Amino acid sequence: MMPLGTMNHTATSSSERTVVVPRICDAIRSRQRFLLTSHARPDGDSIGSQLAMAYALDALGKRVRLVNADPAPDHYREFPGVDRIEIASAVDGDADAVIVMECSDLSRTGVSGFDGRFIINIDHHAGNRMYGSLNWHDESAAACGEMVFDLIQALGIPLTYEIATHIYLAILTDTGAFHHSNITPRTFDICRQTVEAGVEPAAMARRVFDSNSFGKLKLIGALLDSMELVHEGRLAVLYMDDAMLAACGCTYNDTEGVINLPLTAREIQAVVFFKATSGGEIRVSLRSKYDVDVRMVANQYGGGGHKNASGFTVSGPLSAVRGPIIDKIVHAIDEGLQTRPSA
Ligand code: 5GP
Ligand code: MN
Repeated sequence: MMPLGTMNHTATSSSERTVVVPRICDAIRSRQRFLLTSHARPDGDSIGSQLAMAYALDALGKRVRLVNADPAPDHYREFPGVDRIEIASAVDGDADAVIVMECSDLSRTGVSGFDGRFIINIDHHAGNRMYGSLNWHDESAAACGEMVFDLIQALGIPLTYEIATHIYLAILTDTGAFHHSNITPRTFDICRQTVEAGVEPAAMARRVFDSNSFGKLKLIGALLDSMELVHEGRLAVLYMDDAMLAACGCTYNDTEGVINLPLTAREIQAVVFFKATSGGEIRVSLRSKYDVDVRMVANQYGGGGHKNASGFTVSGPLSAVRGPIIDKIVHAIDEGLQTRPSA
Protein backbone atom coordinates (compact mmCIF):
# COMPACT_ATOMS: atom_id res chain seq x y z
CA MET A 1 0.00 0.00 0.00
CA MET A 2 1.21 3.46 -0.84
CA PRO A 3 1.99 5.63 2.20
CA LEU A 4 -0.38 8.54 2.48
CA GLY A 5 2.37 11.14 2.04
CA THR A 6 3.25 9.94 -1.46
CA MET A 7 -0.28 10.02 -2.80
CA ASN A 8 -1.35 12.46 -5.45
CA HIS A 9 -3.23 14.99 -3.36
CA THR A 10 -5.68 17.28 -5.07
CA ALA A 11 -6.44 20.23 -2.82
CA THR A 12 -9.65 22.07 -3.54
CA SER A 13 -11.64 25.06 -2.46
CA SER A 14 -15.24 25.75 -3.37
CA SER A 15 -14.10 27.62 -6.49
CA GLU A 16 -12.37 24.47 -7.72
CA ARG A 17 -15.48 22.39 -7.31
CA THR A 18 -16.10 22.26 -11.04
CA VAL A 19 -12.79 20.40 -11.32
CA VAL A 20 -12.97 18.06 -8.35
CA VAL A 21 -16.61 16.95 -8.56
CA PRO A 22 -16.16 15.40 -12.04
CA ARG A 23 -12.98 13.72 -10.77
CA ILE A 24 -14.86 12.26 -7.83
CA CYS A 25 -17.61 11.09 -10.19
CA ASP A 26 -15.01 9.36 -12.39
CA ALA A 27 -13.36 7.78 -9.35
CA ILE A 28 -16.74 6.47 -8.18
CA ARG A 29 -17.82 5.19 -11.59
CA SER A 30 -14.56 3.31 -12.14
CA ARG A 31 -14.56 1.59 -8.74
CA GLN A 32 -16.79 -1.12 -7.32
CA ARG A 33 -16.22 -1.65 -3.57
CA PHE A 34 -16.69 1.30 -1.23
CA LEU A 35 -16.12 1.94 2.45
CA LEU A 36 -18.10 4.87 3.82
CA THR A 37 -17.26 6.53 7.10
CA SER A 38 -17.81 9.68 9.12
CA HIS A 39 -16.81 11.15 12.46
CA ALA A 40 -16.89 9.51 15.89
CA ARG A 41 -19.98 10.32 18.01
CA PRO A 42 -21.95 10.82 14.80
CA ASP A 43 -24.52 13.61 14.43
CA GLY A 44 -27.34 14.15 11.96
CA ASP A 45 -25.05 15.48 9.24
CA SER A 46 -22.63 12.58 9.48
CA ILE A 47 -25.39 9.94 9.50
CA GLY A 48 -27.40 11.75 6.80
CA SER A 49 -24.44 12.35 4.48
CA GLN A 50 -23.18 8.82 4.88
CA LEU A 51 -26.53 7.12 4.25
CA ALA A 52 -27.50 9.40 1.34
CA MET A 53 -24.17 8.42 -0.22
CA ALA A 54 -24.80 4.73 0.53
CA TYR A 55 -28.21 4.74 -1.19
CA ALA A 56 -26.71 6.62 -4.15
CA LEU A 57 -23.95 4.01 -4.52
CA ASP A 58 -26.57 1.24 -4.21
CA ALA A 59 -28.37 2.84 -7.16
CA LEU A 60 -25.15 2.55 -9.19
CA GLY A 61 -24.88 -1.14 -8.29
CA LYS A 62 -21.78 -0.63 -6.12
CA ARG A 63 -20.79 -2.71 -3.09
CA VAL A 64 -21.08 -0.54 0.01
CA ARG A 65 -19.86 -1.01 3.59
CA LEU A 66 -20.49 1.63 6.24
CA VAL A 67 -18.17 1.73 9.25
CA ASN A 68 -18.29 4.20 12.15
CA ALA A 69 -16.60 4.31 15.53
CA ASP A 70 -19.83 4.94 17.47
CA PRO A 71 -23.52 4.07 17.04
CA ALA A 72 -26.00 6.67 15.82
CA PRO A 73 -27.94 8.52 18.55
CA ASP A 74 -31.15 6.67 19.42
CA HIS A 75 -33.53 9.02 17.62
CA TYR A 76 -31.77 8.36 14.31
CA ARG A 77 -31.99 4.55 14.60
CA GLU A 78 -35.35 4.39 12.80
CA PHE A 79 -34.08 6.27 9.77
CA PRO A 80 -33.64 4.14 6.63
CA GLY A 81 -30.41 2.18 6.50
CA VAL A 82 -29.01 3.13 9.92
CA ASP A 83 -28.84 -0.58 10.80
CA ARG A 84 -26.41 -1.06 7.90
CA ILE A 85 -23.70 0.87 9.77
CA GLU A 86 -21.07 -1.39 11.35
CA ILE A 87 -19.55 -0.14 14.59
CA ALA A 88 -15.81 -0.84 14.80
CA SER A 89 -12.58 0.80 15.93
CA ALA A 90 -10.59 -0.73 13.06
CA VAL A 91 -11.44 -1.78 9.54
CA ASP A 92 -9.80 -4.40 7.35
CA GLY A 93 -10.67 -6.16 4.13
CA ASP A 94 -10.49 -5.05 0.54
CA ALA A 95 -12.07 -1.90 -0.82
CA ASP A 96 -11.43 0.16 -3.93
CA ALA A 97 -12.12 3.49 -2.26
CA VAL A 98 -13.02 5.03 1.08
CA ILE A 99 -15.40 7.99 1.14
CA VAL A 100 -14.84 10.00 4.32
CA MET A 101 -17.53 12.59 5.01
CA GLU A 102 -17.63 15.33 7.66
CA CYS A 103 -14.04 14.83 8.87
CA SER A 104 -11.48 17.63 8.88
CA ASP A 105 -8.83 15.09 9.78
CA LEU A 106 -8.74 11.32 9.19
CA SER A 107 -8.35 10.72 12.94
CA ARG A 108 -11.84 12.26 13.45
CA THR A 109 -13.28 8.95 12.19
CA GLY A 110 -12.02 7.21 15.34
CA VAL A 111 -11.51 4.15 13.11
CA SER A 112 -8.07 2.86 12.08
CA GLY A 113 -7.28 1.10 8.83
CA PHE A 114 -8.18 3.80 6.30
CA ASP A 115 -4.61 5.14 5.96
CA GLY A 116 -3.01 4.45 2.61
CA ARG A 117 -6.23 3.53 0.84
CA PHE A 118 -7.75 5.59 -1.99
CA ILE A 119 -9.62 8.19 0.03
CA ILE A 120 -12.26 10.62 -1.20
CA ASN A 121 -12.49 13.41 1.39
CA ILE A 122 -15.77 15.38 1.36
CA ASP A 123 -16.08 17.97 4.11
CA HIS A 124 -17.29 21.47 5.02
CA HIS A 125 -15.30 22.10 8.22
CA ALA A 126 -12.76 24.92 8.29
CA GLY A 127 -9.17 23.69 8.46
CA ASN A 128 -9.66 20.42 6.58
CA ARG A 129 -6.28 18.69 6.36
CA MET A 130 -6.71 17.55 2.74
CA TYR A 131 -5.78 13.98 3.68
CA GLY A 132 -7.48 12.33 0.71
CA SER A 133 -6.43 11.19 -2.73
CA LEU A 134 -9.26 13.45 -3.86
CA ASN A 135 -10.28 16.33 -1.61
CA TRP A 136 -13.49 18.31 -1.88
CA HIS A 137 -13.64 20.94 0.82
CA ASP A 138 -16.38 23.56 0.77
CA GLU A 139 -16.72 25.70 3.86
CA SER A 140 -19.69 27.50 2.34
CA ALA A 141 -21.86 24.37 2.56
CA ALA A 142 -24.28 24.57 5.50
CA ALA A 143 -24.01 20.79 5.87
CA CYS A 144 -21.84 18.11 4.34
CA GLY A 145 -25.21 16.79 3.13
CA GLU A 146 -25.39 19.75 0.70
CA MET A 147 -22.17 18.54 -0.91
CA VAL A 148 -23.39 14.95 -1.04
CA PHE A 149 -26.55 16.25 -2.73
CA ASP A 150 -24.39 17.98 -5.40
CA LEU A 151 -22.37 14.84 -5.95
CA ILE A 152 -25.47 12.65 -6.29
CA GLN A 153 -26.86 15.10 -8.86
CA ALA A 154 -23.56 15.14 -10.74
CA LEU A 155 -23.66 11.33 -10.85
CA GLY A 156 -27.15 11.57 -12.40
CA ILE A 157 -28.75 9.52 -9.60
CA PRO A 158 -32.48 10.20 -9.00
CA LEU A 159 -33.40 11.76 -5.66
CA THR A 160 -35.25 8.86 -4.05
CA TYR A 161 -37.23 9.22 -0.81
CA GLU A 162 -34.40 7.58 1.17
CA ILE A 163 -31.71 9.85 -0.26
CA ALA A 164 -33.89 12.95 0.18
CA THR A 165 -34.66 11.99 3.79
CA HIS A 166 -30.98 11.75 4.66
CA ILE A 167 -30.04 14.97 2.87
CA TYR A 168 -32.81 16.80 4.74
CA LEU A 169 -31.74 15.22 8.04
CA ALA A 170 -28.17 16.45 7.44
CA ILE A 171 -29.30 20.01 6.71
CA LEU A 172 -31.96 20.18 9.42
CA THR A 173 -29.50 19.18 12.14
CA ASP A 174 -26.34 20.94 10.94
CA THR A 175 -28.13 24.28 10.63
CA GLY A 176 -29.38 23.82 14.23
CA ALA A 177 -32.94 23.55 12.85
CA PHE A 178 -32.34 26.58 10.60
CA HIS A 179 -30.84 28.72 13.37
CA HIS A 180 -27.14 28.92 12.42
CA SER A 181 -25.58 31.58 10.24
CA ASN A 182 -24.39 29.07 7.62
CA ILE A 183 -27.69 29.00 5.70
CA THR A 184 -27.79 30.17 2.07
CA PRO A 185 -30.48 30.27 -0.65
CA ARG A 186 -28.97 27.01 -1.87
CA THR A 187 -29.81 25.37 1.47
CA PHE A 188 -33.50 26.02 0.86
CA ASP A 189 -33.26 25.08 -2.78
CA ILE A 190 -31.94 21.65 -1.79
CA CYS A 191 -34.58 21.33 0.95
CA ARG A 192 -37.29 22.24 -1.59
CA GLN A 193 -36.13 19.39 -3.81
CA THR A 194 -36.10 16.94 -0.91
CA VAL A 195 -39.67 17.96 -0.02
CA GLU A 196 -40.69 17.40 -3.64
CA ALA A 197 -39.15 13.94 -3.30
CA GLY A 198 -41.48 13.13 -0.40
CA VAL A 199 -39.83 14.47 2.74
CA GLU A 200 -42.32 15.89 5.24
CA PRO A 201 -40.61 18.70 7.21
CA ALA A 202 -43.09 18.56 10.10
CA ALA A 203 -42.65 14.82 10.51
CA MET A 204 -38.87 15.18 10.29
CA ALA A 205 -38.81 17.91 12.95
CA ARG A 206 -40.95 15.73 15.24
CA ARG A 207 -38.75 12.66 14.68
CA VAL A 208 -35.51 14.52 15.26
CA PHE A 209 -36.41 16.99 17.99
CA ASP A 210 -39.57 15.64 19.64
CA SER A 211 -38.65 12.04 20.34
CA ASN A 212 -37.15 12.40 23.80
CA SER A 213 -37.54 9.75 26.48
CA PHE A 214 -38.96 10.75 29.88
CA GLY A 215 -35.44 10.18 31.22
CA LYS A 216 -34.10 12.78 28.83
CA LEU A 217 -36.71 15.30 29.96
CA LYS A 218 -35.53 14.67 33.51
CA LEU A 219 -31.94 15.15 32.42
CA ILE A 220 -32.83 18.44 30.71
CA GLY A 221 -34.43 19.58 33.96
CA ALA A 222 -31.37 18.65 36.00
CA LEU A 223 -28.96 20.28 33.54
CA LEU A 224 -30.91 23.53 33.35
CA ASP A 225 -31.38 23.53 37.12
CA SER A 226 -27.63 23.48 37.65
CA MET A 227 -26.88 25.89 34.79
CA GLU A 228 -24.65 28.84 35.64
CA LEU A 229 -24.82 32.24 34.00
CA VAL A 230 -21.68 34.34 33.63
CA HIS A 231 -20.71 37.59 31.91
CA GLU A 232 -23.99 39.31 32.79
CA GLY A 233 -26.02 36.37 31.56
CA ARG A 234 -24.46 36.29 28.11
CA LEU A 235 -22.81 32.89 28.65
CA ALA A 236 -24.57 29.78 29.99
CA VAL A 237 -22.48 26.98 31.50
CA LEU A 238 -23.82 23.42 31.72
CA TYR A 239 -22.21 20.52 33.59
CA MET A 240 -22.81 16.81 33.37
CA ASP A 241 -21.19 13.66 34.72
CA ASP A 242 -21.96 9.94 34.83
CA ALA A 243 -23.78 10.21 38.17
CA MET A 244 -26.23 12.70 36.68
CA LEU A 245 -26.86 10.44 33.69
CA ALA A 246 -27.44 7.44 35.95
CA ALA A 247 -29.85 9.40 38.19
CA CYS A 248 -32.00 10.17 35.13
CA GLY A 249 -31.66 6.72 33.56
CA CYS A 250 -29.88 8.25 30.58
CA THR A 251 -26.83 7.55 28.44
CA TYR A 252 -24.29 9.96 26.95
CA ASN A 253 -26.29 10.04 23.69
CA ASP A 254 -29.20 11.64 25.54
CA THR A 255 -27.18 14.83 25.96
CA GLU A 256 -27.53 15.58 22.25
CA GLY A 257 -29.36 18.81 21.52
CA VAL A 258 -29.61 19.90 25.16
CA ILE A 259 -26.90 22.49 24.58
CA ASN A 260 -29.20 24.44 22.27
CA LEU A 261 -31.83 25.08 24.95
CA PRO A 262 -30.09 27.93 26.82
CA LEU A 263 -29.78 29.81 23.51
CA THR A 264 -33.57 30.20 23.52
CA ALA A 265 -33.07 32.88 26.20
CA ARG A 266 -32.69 36.21 24.43
CA GLU A 267 -29.71 37.43 26.47
CA ILE A 268 -27.65 34.25 26.14
CA GLN A 269 -25.12 34.54 23.30
CA ALA A 270 -23.13 31.36 23.88
CA VAL A 271 -23.32 28.06 25.75
CA VAL A 272 -20.55 25.80 26.97
CA PHE A 273 -21.39 22.25 28.02
CA PHE A 274 -18.80 20.33 30.08
CA LYS A 275 -19.39 16.58 29.92
CA ALA A 276 -17.15 14.67 32.32
CA THR A 277 -16.61 11.05 31.23
CA SER A 278 -15.69 8.16 33.51
CA GLY A 279 -12.25 8.01 31.83
CA GLY A 280 -11.32 11.42 33.28
CA GLU A 281 -11.62 13.28 29.99
CA ILE A 282 -14.01 16.19 29.54
CA ARG A 283 -15.92 16.65 26.30
CA VAL A 284 -16.60 20.33 25.75
CA SER A 285 -19.37 21.43 23.38
CA LEU A 286 -19.89 25.05 22.37
CA ARG A 287 -22.80 26.82 20.69
CA SER A 288 -23.34 30.50 19.87
CA LYS A 289 -25.53 33.02 18.10
CA TYR A 290 -24.78 35.28 15.13
CA ASP A 291 -21.11 36.30 14.86
CA VAL A 292 -19.91 34.89 18.18
CA ASP A 293 -17.21 32.55 16.85
CA VAL A 294 -16.84 29.52 19.12
CA ARG A 295 -14.79 27.60 16.57
CA MET A 296 -11.83 29.85 17.38
CA VAL A 297 -12.11 28.76 21.01
CA ALA A 298 -12.27 25.05 20.07
CA ASN A 299 -9.25 25.49 17.78
CA GLN A 300 -7.16 26.66 20.73
CA TYR A 301 -7.79 23.29 22.38
CA GLY A 302 -7.14 21.12 19.32
CA GLY A 303 -10.82 20.80 18.42
CA GLY A 304 -12.86 22.42 15.67
CA GLY A 305 -16.27 22.74 14.09
CA HIS A 306 -18.16 25.78 12.89
CA LYS A 307 -18.64 29.39 13.96
CA ASN A 308 -21.87 28.60 15.85
CA ALA A 309 -21.19 24.96 16.83
CA SER A 310 -17.86 23.48 17.84
CA GLY A 311 -16.28 21.09 20.29
CA PHE A 312 -13.11 19.63 21.75
CA THR A 313 -11.83 17.27 24.44
CA VAL A 314 -9.59 18.17 27.40
CA SER A 315 -8.12 16.26 30.31
CA GLY A 316 -9.54 17.18 33.69
CA PRO A 317 -9.90 18.14 36.39
CA LEU A 318 -12.78 20.43 35.55
CA SER A 319 -11.76 22.91 38.27
CA ALA A 320 -8.47 23.53 36.45
CA VAL A 321 -9.73 23.85 32.86
CA ARG A 322 -13.05 25.61 33.44
CA GLY A 323 -11.77 29.15 34.09
CA PRO A 324 -9.47 29.57 31.08
CA ILE A 325 -12.09 28.09 28.72
CA ILE A 326 -14.78 30.44 30.01
CA ASP A 327 -12.42 33.41 29.64
CA LYS A 328 -11.86 32.57 25.99
CA ILE A 329 -15.59 32.26 25.29
CA VAL A 330 -16.27 35.58 27.03
CA HIS A 331 -13.67 37.13 24.74
CA ALA A 332 -15.38 35.58 21.68
CA ILE A 333 -18.74 36.95 22.85
CA ASP A 334 -17.35 40.47 23.20
CA GLU A 335 -15.75 40.30 19.75
CA GLY A 336 -18.90 38.86 18.16
CA LEU A 337 -21.30 41.34 19.73
CA GLN A 338 -19.48 44.17 17.97
CA THR A 339 -20.71 42.86 14.63
CA ARG A 340 -24.16 41.75 15.69
CA PRO A 341 -26.98 42.64 13.28
CA SER A 342 -29.40 45.22 14.69
CA ALA A 343 -32.61 43.35 13.73
P1 5GP B 1 -20.72 18.62 19.34
O1 5GP B 1 -20.73 19.71 20.33
O2 5GP B 1 -22.08 18.33 18.81
O3 5GP B 1 -19.94 17.43 19.76
O4 5GP B 1 -19.90 19.20 18.10
C1 5GP B 1 -20.30 20.34 17.41
C2 5GP B 1 -19.50 20.44 16.12
O5 5GP B 1 -18.13 20.68 16.46
C3 5GP B 1 -19.51 19.13 15.34
O6 5GP B 1 -20.39 19.23 14.27
C4 5GP B 1 -18.10 19.00 14.85
O7 5GP B 1 -18.05 19.59 13.60
C5 5GP B 1 -17.25 19.86 15.74
N1 5GP B 1 -16.43 19.14 16.71
C6 5GP B 1 -16.80 18.65 17.91
N2 5GP B 1 -15.79 18.08 18.55
C7 5GP B 1 -14.71 18.22 17.76
C8 5GP B 1 -13.33 17.82 17.88
O8 5GP B 1 -12.91 17.21 18.86
N3 5GP B 1 -12.53 18.12 16.82
C9 5GP B 1 -12.98 18.78 15.71
N4 5GP B 1 -12.11 19.04 14.72
N5 5GP B 1 -14.25 19.18 15.58
C10 5GP B 1 -15.11 18.90 16.58
MN1 MN C 1 -21.51 18.91 9.31
